Formats: sequence, C-alpha cells, structure tokens
Amino acid sequence: MSTYRLLVTDGVDPEGVAVLTATPEFIVDEVATLPPAELLARIGEYDAIVGRSATKVSAELLRKAVKLRVVGRAGVGVDNVDLDVATELGIAVINAPAGNTVAVAELVFGTLIGVLRQIPRATTGLHDGKWERAKLMGHELKAKTLGIVGVGRIGGEVARRAHAFDMRVVGYDPYVGDDRFGALKVTRMATLDELLAEADIVTVHVPLTDETLGMIGRRELARLAPSAVVANLARGGIIDETALVAALREGKLAGAVVDAFTSEPLQGEHALRGVPNLLLTPHIGANTHEAQRNVAVDVCQSVREALLHHELSRSLNVAAVSGKSWPELQSAITIAQRAASVARSLLADRGLKAVTRLAVRTGSELAGSGPALLSAAVVGVLEGVMAEGRLNLINARSLAEARGIQLSITENAPGLPAHGLEVVLGGAMNELAVAGSAPPEGTPRLTRIGGFHVDINPKQTLLVLTNHDVPGVIGRVGTVLGDAKVNIAEYHQARLAQGGEALAAVSVDGSITEEVRQALLATPEVLSATIVRFRGA
Ligand code: NAD
Repeated sequence: MSTYRLLVTDGVDPEGVAVLTATPEFIVDEVATLPPAELLARIGEYDAIVGRSATKVSAELLRKAVKLRVVGRAGVGVDNVDLDVATELGIAVINAPAGNTVAVAELVFGTLIGVLRQIPRATTGLHDGKWERAKLMGHELKAKTLGIVGVGRIGGEVARRAHAFDMRVVGYDPYVGDDRFGALKVTRMATLDELLAEADIVTVHVPLTDETLGMIGRRELARLAPSAVVANLARGGIIDETALVAALREGKLAGAVVDAFTSEPLQGEHALRGVPNLLLTPHIGANTHEAQRNVAVDVCQSVREALLHHELSRSLNVAAVSGKSWPELQSAITIAQRAASVARSLLADRGLKAVTRLAVRTGSELAGSGPALLSAAVVGVLEGVMAEGRLNLINARSLAEARGIQLSITENAPGLPAHGLEVVLGGAMNELAVAGSAPPEGTPRLTRIGGFHVDINPKQTLLVLTNHDVPGVIGRVGTVLGDAKVNIAEYHQARLAQGGEALAAVSVDGSITEEVRQALLATPEVLSATIVRFRGA
C-alpha cells in the first residue's frame, strides 16, 4: 500500500479533516497556519497540502515541494496559490467552488435589506441611546429590478431568492447560454450598459479577471439612477473602490455593499471607511458554519481522489472535462495518448522530430472531453522528449504551448464514429493522422494509421511495419520475432491496393530491441519498421 503524507493547515473544518484521517493510506499532519519560513522548511515531505486562504502557496514554496502533487483550497478563491507555477510543475490545484454558494447568496439579501432599511444605523443609534424612528425610512425589494452581473453559481442562487421577494430579475453574462437564463427566469441583457439602464440594484457575481477588474467604474456608476444600490460580494475591485466612494459621497448613488476588497484586510484610514450608506462586511460571504463544513468536506474528498485514483477532474489547472467523469474517459485518454505516440514515432522515423502542430478531433460521444484528450495526446507526443517526472495531464498543454506547438480541438468532427477520435501531428511539410476508438464497454483500439485501416489494441509495444504487399511477409516477420522470443499479441495487416504498399500493426508483449528491428529491416520486403513503446503500459 502506498502511503501519502498530507499537511492540513489554516483551520480547515474538522469534518473535512476527518475524510483524510479516515483514509488508511494517509498520514495527516494538522497544524495552525505556519510562518512562511517554517512551511518552506517542511514542505518537501508532503504529497499534498490542504488549507484555506491564510497560507500563501508561493512559487518559491512550490519549487521546494519536491513531492507535492496536490494543493487543496477549502474555499473558492485561489489568489493565494501561484497557479502558473503549479501548472508548470504539474501540481494539481483543487478548490471547492460550490460549497459556499448559498452562504453568499443569503448574505446578498441580508446586506441589501440592511442598506435599504438602514439596519446598521438603526442598531448603532439605538445602542447609543437614540430613537431615530422618523429618520429611518427605507425601501422594499418588491417590484424593484435586480441586475445580476455574472449568472453563475452564486448569481443563479441570488436570482432564485430574488423571485421570492417579487423582484424583476435581469442578468448580464455573455458566457452563459439562453437555457440557463430561461430556467432561472432571468431576462438576458445583451450588454452591461443595458443592464445598468434597467436595474435599481446591481450585484456582481463574476470572477476577478482582466475583463472584470473595474468593470463597474465611474462611467458605469454614472449610468445608474441616484436611487440605485450596488453590491460587490464577489472579489475586490470589480466595482472600482475610488469611483464608488466618489459616487456615494456626491449623492449619485443611494447605497452600496462591499464584502470583498482590493486589498485585505482594510488598513488604517481607508477611503471606504466612514462613507455614508456604505455597508461594509469583512469578506464574510462564505463565513457560515455550513459553508465551511461543505467546502472542507468537498475539497478533502477531491484531494483524496486525486492522490489515490489520479482523479483530477476537480483540478483547476487540468483540462476541463464536461459531460463525462474522469474514470469514464480513461480509455479514450489512453487511446489519444497512444495514437499520438504512434504518430510521433512514425514521423520521427521519417526524419520529422519537431512537431509543431497537434490537432485532436473527437466523435459525438466524446464531446466535452476534447481538452482532456488533447492533453493526453500532448503527453503522447512529449513523453520521451521531455524529462521524465513532471510531464502529466495537468501541465501537458502549457508545456506544449511553451514549446511552440500549435494545439487545436475539433469536437463532433464529421466522419468519425461516436466514440472515435483522431490525432493529427504535423511539422514542416509533413503530417500524419492516427485514429482510434474507445467504446464504453469494448477494448480501446487503434483504427487507422495514416491511410491504412487497422484494428489493434495498443498494449505494451506496437511494431509498425511498411512492406511490399507480396505473399509470405507475415510468416517471415513472425519468424524474426519468434527467434527473438517476442510474443505477438495481435497482428493486423492492411493495404491500400493489392500488390501496393502494405502496413502491419503488430502488438507485442514486452519490448523489441534495436537488434530485432534491424533484423526486420533486413527482410527484403520490409520498407520501414517503427517501434512504439507505450509509457505506463
Ligand atoms: P461561477 O464561476 O459559478 O460564476 C461566475 C459567472 O461569471 C460565470 O457564469 C461567468 O460566465 C460569468 N462571467 C465571467 N466573466 C464575465 C464577464 N466579463 N461579464 C459577465 N459575466 C462574466 O462563480 P461563483 O461561484 O458564482 O462566484 C462568483 C464570485 O463570487 C467569484 O468572484 C467568487 O470568487 C466570489 N465569491 C465570494 C465569496 C465571498 O466570501 N464574498 C465567496 C464565494 C465566492
């Protein structure tokens, strides 16, 4: 039994930690957030680290973490993890994106009603001995238009709850299909400006990206009515903080909620402090016991699966797979990787070593798996070319792109069977396509090499011969392999036309030496002999 050492830190909820400690293969060290130097000194021992946001998983830390395979984040944001370096090193970063959705969605309404009914002022006033009833007039949610920017998980839950308050709900999210808008009864706005023109209340639920940083700035706030309220319970800076302060102070906006800040925690005399009608909460969107338990259990289960079963579908920096689970895709992944190895070896034997193009085409049943299969094909191309150890499905694509290989995916490609896929490798002046199929219940097969139809299960080593299509070749090849004690598992002979060039795909157990290859090449009819040894076979 392989054992793995895990470091759990930052006070991950005990129910999550229990998932790990109950796993016999795991040795779990649970510690309070460590000072960076101490963590750096210890990280080399661990296969996985699981934490919240307090521990910074920096580039320096990752490079020192020689055994590390998984970083688990009990929460959504991974701003504390150097994702690029993790990807480069082949370390999976796993978060728990769904567990705190409800917590945030509920707080949206708690804080919005807080602003609309002046609850913070009401309570501090009363505690301070005042009775300001007449001044504490508010507004209702009913019949107001709520504009949701980003109709993802949290945006969707906000929409559901908004209907319970009899609000009209409009949304802007160019990356989401009409079906989702329809199901959530959210009226789609084609642009952000259109949403701003309609909404009484705007709430942002987008990730922080180049596109969303400052997406609600001075110009956007100016488009809202002075009675409008805005809320940012997503990430700091999506609503520009300086513009927000100005709009509130100048009376151009009735109120705002901010739970996430550009720089956290807020320091000293921050411009946001003391602004009228601004309800501030210290990034507590996900701070419910339920959410902390959910995200901890979620991420610990994913980390366990990643370590024990290489189940990386929850990894942020692995190719996304939609529609199928990772285990369901295993045989397609294997065939994509092996088809790519075959194509690479054949091209290399023809003198083309520098692959500059790699395309993966998939049949209808493999739709959504294109990125994963492309990663697998990249592994097939780069294994044996790159140093062993760090090349894997997570970092394959970024390594390939860094080497200048153009990658492309065509899903639902015409002419391919439903469970079929094709890997096309190309370089200067030359290109080769190898196809395969991975039916759910059957054995994965290679089905075409270049123009030749084959039907072979590429298991340990594949010998690909081209020869003149004359009688007796199979016997002579069999004799050479037999003399060398190489056991043939399958032999598939294909030809384009009688008497022309033929191709033989021979699956053998074990390996074939260079000496045997030379003996095969010495057989008069044999034109070429390529040996493909599959990694991990
Ligand atoms: P999600 O990925 O499910 O949804 C995000 C949505 O934003 C997606 O539908 C996406 O298509 C959309 N989007 C992306 N770019 C866009 C753009 N330029 N314009 C319009 N829409 C765009 O994410 P989620 O789980 O709903 O989280 C939403 C936000 O809430 C994230 O920023 C997350 O970090 C934050 N969050 C905050 C807290 C908190 O404590 N306050 C807790 C959890 C999540």
